[in-house]
Amino acid sequence: MKAKIAKIKLVRVHYIPKTLEPGILYVSEEFGAAVHLCACGCGSKVSTPLGPAEWALEDTGCGPSLRPSIGSWQLPCKSHYFINGGLILWAGQWSEEQITLGRQAEEKRRCIYYNSLERPSAGVLQKLWHWLKSLFQ
Ligand SMILES: [Zn+2]
Repeated sequence: MKAKIAKIKLVRVHYIPKTLEPGILYVSEEFGAAVHLCACGCGSKVSTPLGPAEWALEDTGCGPSLRPSIGSWQLPCKSHYFINGGLILWAGQWSEEQITLGRQAEEKRRCIYYNSLERPSAGVLQKLWHWLKSLFQ
């Protein structure tokens, strides 16, 4: 039986349990992961790694929020929804084009983040170098 889930609650765990219940977002801070059953009711497990370049979890007090949206383009159901304040907000199904765009956006986001980690030190060195050079000119 397929039943769309409209609400999800946050359950903090150390280890993600083997059997998951629908309507629960299992979060393991230790392992930096959130796992839940796909909200369309297909029974697929959806894992979202948590981190600055991954998903951001917010405990709003009235339920969890996850950013960005959950786009399960790798699942047959291709569900796409938002988890916002414990509510599942459906974004409709992904078209092939949206899937490609979604993937690209995700790669871009990761890329921007990792670049931003590397760049500041290089930038500071470069500034220092220019400053030193200007002293001797
Ligand atoms: Zn599904």
